[in-house]
Amino acid sequence: MDSALFSGVMNCLICSKCNRKYDLFESVWMCICGGFLDIQLRVSFDPETLKNKPFSLWRYREVLPLHPDAIPVSLGETLTPLLPIDISGQTVHFKQDQLFPTGSFKDRGSAVLITHLNYLKIPSVVEDSSGNAGASIAAYSAKAGIKCEIFVPDSASEAKLLQISRYNAIIRTVNGSRKTVAEAAFKIAEKTYFASHYYNPFFIHGIKTWAYEVCEQRRWSAPDTVILPIGNGSLFLGAFLGFQELKASGVISKIPKFIGVQAKCCAPIYKAIHPFCSVKLNDCQTIAEGIAVSDPPRIQQILSCISETGGDLITVSENCIKKTLQEKWSEGYYVEPATAATIAGVTLYVQQLTNDEQIISSFTGHGLKYSKPLPNSH
Ligand SMILES: [Zn+2]
Repeated sequence: MDSALFSGVMNCLICSKCNRKYDLFESVWMCICGGFLDIQLRVSFDPETLKNKPFSLWRYREVLPLHPDAIPVSLGETLTPLLPIDISGQTVHFKQDQLFPTGSFKDRGSAVLITHLNYLKIPSVVEDSSGNAGASIAAYSAKAGIKCEIFVPDSASEAKLLQISRYNAIIRTVNGSRKTVAEAAFKIAEKTYFASHYYNPFFIHGIKTWAYEVCEQRRWSAPDTVILPIGNGSLFLGAFLGFQELKASGVISKIPKFIGVQAKCCAPIYKAIHPFCSVKLNDCQTIAEGIAVSDPPRIQQILSCISETGGDLITVSENCIKKTLQEKWSEGYYVEPATAATIAGVTLYVQQLTNDEQIISSFTGHGLKYSKPLPNSH
C-alpha cells in the first residue's frame, strides 16, 4: 500500500499509564504495567486522495493504523446515510450505523481490529460485551477464521446471544454486572488475545471513520455539536479521535462540542462531572443494555473530550427511553433501546437550545437485536 503513514518513526503503541512504547505491529494488547494501550499515529489526511476509492470505510484506509500488507477482513462496510429527522422542530442528522453488516456501529471497529489481528496471525480472541460488540467481533472473527469466545451478562438480549452463537463463537454467560463480565473475560484474555471494543486502540481507530464519513457527507465541514451515547465510550472517543485528526490535517477548522448520553440509573460520567449528586452507579437496570457500564476504563479520556470541547453529559430516565423507543418504532425507525436513549438525550438537548446548531447524532443498533417485550413502566 502506498502510504506516508509508515515513513516516520512516531507510529507506535503507547501505554496510557507509564508511556512505555511498543512496536505498532507487536502482538500485545496491554502494557506490562497493566495500563491500556493507545496508538501514537502520524496522520496527514487529504480528501483529494479519496477519488476513485470504494464507498466503504476502507476509503479511509490511509489513516488507519494497519500494516500495508494487511488484507481487509470485510463483510461489506458501506458508508451509512446521514438521515435528517425532525426533533422538537429542529433538524438533527443521524448516521444510520444500524445498517452495518451485524446491525451496529461496532462493525467499524471490528473490521479494523480483526484485519490487524488476521495480519498478526492471532489464532483466537476473547471479548466481553452486552451483545453488539460481541456479535460484531464474532462475525469478523468468523470471516477471518479466528476462534472467538464472548463473555456476556446473563441479562443480554436473546436475539444478540443467538446472533453470536450463529457465528460459531463460544458464549460464556456471567451472572452479574458488566464489570463482573469484563473481569471474567480479562482473566481468560491473559492466555489469549483481548479483542476488546473499549480496551483495544485498533478498535477505536476503526470507529473514527464515523467522523471522517460525517465530515465528507457535509463536504468536509464539522457540525457544531455531536451527541452520542456513552457506555464504555468507544463511539464517543473514536468520533473525537476522527475529528481531532481532521483538524490536525487542516481539513476542518473546528472540533464539535461533544455531548454524551447515559441512562439515569447508570451514569458514571455524570457522576464524575457532578461528584456530589446522588446518582447510583451499580444499579444497571436500564433497558439500554448497550450503555449499561458503571465503570468505563477510559473514563478520564471521555471526561477530557467533554471538557476540551465544551461539552456536557445528559442523563435520560427509563420511562423516557421506553417512550422514545415506542415513538420511534411507530414512526418507522426500528432501533434498539440504546439508540432510543440517544434520541431521548438529543430531544432534551434540542429543547433547551436558544439558537440554531448543526447537530449530528447516530443510530447505533438495529431494533431486530431487541426481541424482549418492553418492561412495564416504573
Ligand atoms: Zn505501562
